[in-house]
Amino acid sequence: MNGAEKLLETPVAIGQTMTLLMQENAIVSDEAATCGLGIFPATENAPPHDWLMLTGGAIGQGLPLSLGAAIACPDRKVIALQADGSAMYTVQALWSMARENTDVTVVIMNNRSYAILNIELARVGAGQPTPGTLSMLDLSRPDIDWVALAEGMGVPATRANNAEDFHQQFADAMEGQGPCLIEAMVVQQAPG
Ligand SMILES: [Mg+2]
Repeated sequence: MNGAEKLLETPVAIGQTMTLLMQENAIVSDEAATCGLGIFPATENAPPHDWLMLTGGAIGQGLPLSLGAAIACPDRKVIALQADGSAMYTVQALWSMARENTDVTVVIMNNRSYAILNIELARVGAGQPTPGTLSMLDLSRPDIDWVALAEGMGVPATRANNAEDFHQQFADAMEGQGPCLIEAMVVQQAPG
């Protein structure tokens, strides 16, 4: 297996790790957006837990939802599965997690894209998008450094470049207490 193949080619690997390592009675805030489609079914054999979904078509609720859940239930592990684009809507929640010392493990699905908005763009039937249109839904130039962002707000963070990294970092997060962030580098599927 080469380096590229070892990358997190599919969020299913994240779900499999969660199934093995997630604590019983954990609370999951799911704003993984397009990545969540692979994670949710992969956790069907995980220990009993609560799963908080998006309430509607808007995005940006995931980080504050996990913060609120952790404050409401301080004796339960909270896991925030968080797409990168929607995390940017309410990123200041990381600072509140540090300030309140909430036991939240944030997993950022970094595909450097507002992938869900690309799907919505296709749904509105506005014809073939131009490069200028597509660039507005792309999260590069510059790439967002989630480890630096989290650490800048007082949340310890690590980057997972492959499934093995993620498994170890998630295991450490489940063992530990307090807020932490794992930036999972999720490979974008080539079109077609
Ligand atoms: Mg994304």
